[in-house]
Amino acid sequence: GAVGGVENKPRILLMGLRRSGKSSIQKVVFHKLSPNETLFLESTSKVVKDDINNSSFVQFQVWDFPGQIDFFDPTFDSEQIFGSCGSLIFVIDAQDDYRQALIRLHQTLTKAFQVNQNIKFEVFIHKVDGLSDDRKWEAQRDIQTKATCDLADAGLDGLLRPSFYLTSIYDHSIFEAFSRVVQKLIPQLPTLENLLNILVSNCGLEKAFLFDVVSKIYIATDSSPVDMLSYELCCDMIDVVIDVSCIYGDDVEACAYDQQSASIIKLSNGVILYLREVNRFLALVCLIREEVFERQGLIEYNFHCFRESIQQVFEVRRKTQGPLTSLGSY
Ligand code: GDP
Repeated sequence: GAVGGVENKPRILLMGLRRSGKSSIQKVVFHKLSPNETLFLESTSKVVKDDINNSSFVQFQVWDFPGQIDFFDPTFDSEQIFGSCGSLIFVIDAQDDYRQALIRLHQTLTKAFQVNQNIKFEVFIHKVDGLSDDRKWEAQRDIQTKATCDLADAGLDGLLRPSFYLTSIYDHSIFEAFSRVVQKLIPQLPTLENLLNILVSNCGLEKAFLFDVVSKIYIATDSSPVDMLSYELCCDMIDVVIDVSCIYGDDVEACAYDQQSASIIKLSNGVILYLREVNRFLALVCLIREEVFERQGLIEYNFHCFRESIQQVFEVRRKTQGPLTSLGSY
């Protein structure tokens, strides 16, 4: 009777040693905790299943494992834990001596791979806010080399290729990394990117992101390169719009973020940030040059086509594969 139930949903597992920052990541990305408030979080001491389903388009679970669980203990059900998991994120505290974490990483990767070869393996080299740029790259190179060597020694290189990200909860890097992790789990990604490319070229936009409003994860963008500053501006815009619509919206329960939601912020460099609601979960945020933005009719027309297409992409999915709860499952 678990069909459609919690157990069938794809999972993103968040693992790593104690105090590596797992709970903080989860709280900051999905629960809007401010980074400073994480200082007072109690360290994770049990498996926490965080099911973020109703408010977010991104329907997956974060399993926050306490660092000290021994999953080689026969009572640890690795089949069940890794079996239907979409991604496994392993968090390493880069400010600490990470030798122990590397051993743990290797054990975790090999164990999980043994159970499920379809898992996407992701390594967050975390808390890099405390490091200079040089030390950041140094840590990344070191961790990446050592982890890859360990896999080679186990005969798993080429089979199991983790991706590495430099992250911190004190800037947007954690959202950016999560975006890339989540994008790998979205089967419709090529279609979404294609639609965004068409929109960008038809309207003459500088950049367009499709955001999951609640988490500020962007689930797709057009194929021009992402620069962090643009991404940060768009994230900030979402915060502003949500704050303002919660303050001034007439419905206290649900924010006034709805069909008509459209917001404009003019930057001093002649660029406009433009936000439009796409559906309950998703918003389009674009950067447009001011002179281009004057062609409102064109933008409006193209946006409507875009919204229709997005609706269709997910309608088809809903009809053939049930609700989005199967996102990222195999
Ligand atoms: P967990 O045991 O893995 O869940 O770790 P916590 O989330 O409890 O984090 C342990 C400590 O690391 C807390 O004091 C956090 O404030 C801190 N922390 C988490 N992420 C970061 C980060 O990106 N940078 C810095 N400097 N500290 C962090």
